[in-house]
Amino acid sequence: MFDLRELYQQVIVDHNREPRNFHEMEQPCQCADGFNPLCGDKLTLFLKINADNIIEKASFQGRGCAISTASASLMTDILKGMSVDNAKILFNKFHKMLTDDAMPDMTDMDKLTVLAGVKEFPARVKCATLAWHTLMAVLEQKIDTVVSTE
Ligand code: ZN
Repeated sequence: MFDLRELYQQVIVDHNREPRNFHEMEQPCQCADGFNPLCGDKLTLFLKINADNIIEKASFQGRGCAISTASASLMTDILKGMSVDNAKILFNKFHKMLTDDAMPDMTDMDKLTVLAGVKEFPARVKCATLAWHTLMAVLEQKIDTVVSTE
């Protein structure tokens, strides 16, 4: 019998056991730390964004539960090659998928849809969205305006 929930779980277990893009990034890069005190999930997200506002590379490090790790792993995979604008749109869709009663349009969500089941466990939603909130923190850093004179 095909069990969708079991499939979801397999993807989460797989990404937790072997997280993709799980490493620090050499400079120059943009990064931010995320922390979910409810569960104790901690991560640092690293992005390399080029002059055309395309995310060339994405990686993360940290320690967290299976859902937070799988979410960061899936997110860093899907971000590569994406424009900053599209990443922000994807954040909104992902957030909506986990917090809204109405399901958003899931096209372009790819494997992220495996996390839709987390919605049934409200206490774990913050685990799944941690990497994404950290992403927004990186994208909203106006570091291009910070110029060191030293
Ligand atoms: Zn967690």
